[in-house]
Amino acid sequence: MTTVDLPLLPLGRGQDPSSERGVECPGDLPAASDPDLVARARAAKDALGDRVFVLGHHYQRDEVIQFADVTGDSFKLAREAAARPDAEYVVFCGVHFMAESADILTAPHQQVVLPDLAAGCSMADMARLAQVERAWEALADAGLADSVVPVTYMNSSADIKAFCGRHGGVVCTSSNAEVALEWAFGQKPDAKVLFLPDQHLGRNTAVLQMGMSLEDCVVWNPLLPGGGLPAEQLRDARMILWKGHCSVHGRFAPEVVDELRATMPGVRVLVHPECRHEVVTRADEVGSTEYIIKAVEAAPPGTRWAIGTELNLVRRLAEDHPEQEIAFLDKTVCYCSTMNRIDLPHLVWALESLVTGTVVNRIEVDPDTEREALVALQRMLDLPGRSHRD
Ligand code: SF4
Repeated sequence: MTTVDLPLLPLGRGQDPSSERGVECPGDLPAASDPDLVARARAAKDALGDRVFVLGHHYQRDEVIQFADVTGDSFKLAREAAARPDAEYVVFCGVHFMAESADILTAPHQQVVLPDLAAGCSMADMARLAQVERAWEALADAGLADSVVPVTYMNSSADIKAFCGRHGGVVCTSSNAEVALEWAFGQKPDAKVLFLPDQHLGRNTAVLQMGMSLEDCVVWNPLLPGGGLPAEQLRDARMILWKGHCSVHGRFAPEVVDELRATMPGVRVLVHPECRHEVVTRADEVGSTEYIIKAVEAAPPGTRWAIGTELNLVRRLAEDHPEQEIAFLDKTVCYCSTMNRIDLPHLVWALESLVTGTVVNRIEVDPDTEREALVALQRMLDLPGRSHRD
């Protein structure tokens, strides 16, 4: 096994601007025990008025989501921010790659703020640009340079989106992955797709939506020379899946699905496509966070659900729909730990700093990366009949 450049940074300490890893939080945070935090957040938001637009991802805590002007998945939120050019400041309660996408899609005068820079994404961290460039060279050495089209999930850093823009590839969301893959396979004769960074979304889409076999998919391990794949396997593959996954959705297990079916007769199992293939194949419905929300909203009273996605969202759905029986598809707590770093003290600190004219934790993508990432994003926007949900 070769050594690789994967220094581990404890969250909130040190700095690694080339990755999604945590960086320190400058300034003094209000104490979490401060009883006035809600009033302070409201006062700061009122003082900023239309100059600030607060975005709240579905997986955020309640204490934060109550201050969101709009809630949604990452792509919807970035587009909402772009549709509000009056908002000088966009406070993104989500994770780093989402704030980057918002910066790419908003106008230059809009400044995007991530209240805690340690709110990264473990999945996005699993594909670093240097690793992907090495994989690209190895694929060229294997004689595949003319046939591979890179496709990256929205949940990736801006420089990986830019890589796809540079190399004739596209961005996709969990809702339009099938259309994006069809587009990619149409780009070259005998095309293969390098799918980044979530192997599960890539595999589930290829096999369950596009009718490929599991043997059509191989997994590229960036920690091994040549991805750990013999040349023959690479040559025969149609999908080269990056060895990345979501640390939240990867926890759901097929045996829990079986147990719940035994204890909750009539239960409908509803999971996100970032879940493992053996979980997704046991589910009744598979879809993005927006899909999950709409499925519950449209269900008749008395519907029994077991839902496999982030716990904050499942808990809110259960609270909002007491007429249904909503269970969580995991035996243990399953919050997205980095998403949950955005808490009320960080939000208050970010908003109050803006009131005093100080922009803290600005997320700014460099112009070259932004230009190339926009190429890949625009290809996604141009896809036929696509919907944009994460
Ligand atoms: S839920 Fe998974 S993909 Fe989403 S931010 Fe958390 S680790 Fe990343």
